[in-house]
Amino acid sequence: MEIAIIAHDGKKAEMVQFLLDNKEVLNKANLISTGTTGSHVEKAGFKVSKQLSGPLGGDAQIAAMAAEKKIDVVVFFRDPLDKHPHEPDVQMLLRICDVHNIPLATNPATARLIFKAFEAMNE
Ligand code: PGA
Repeated sequence: MEIAIIAHDGKKAEMVQFLLDNKEVLNKANLISTGTTGSHVEKAGFKVSKQLSGPLGGDAQIAAMAAEKKIDVVVFFRDPLDKHPHEPDVQMLLRICDVHNIPLATNPATARLIFKAFEAMNE
């Protein structure tokens, strides 16, 4: 399973905590991240394929992979209280997930539910 993990700066700490809480599912998956998120994912002890940083096109790269069906789930902890220069790329990634019916979690509560479903599928 290919899981994309992305977090805006204001949500990176929450993202790391989420990873640590869900090690079991994540250790069985291939992780793909935008650049800075990927560095945090590595520091948390996971192997990850790092793309460009979000503002430099990382979200667009992940959207392209999703459009090619190379990604099974997108976890994108967005920060709704901050401005982002690459908002058009963010919107594109969300749209591509909907176009291709790819499970998309934009907050930890939803991500937790999706991962619970994966655990149940593996039992
Ligand atoms: P970053 O990008 O992981 O390079 O911070 C994430 C984003 O803001 O889309």
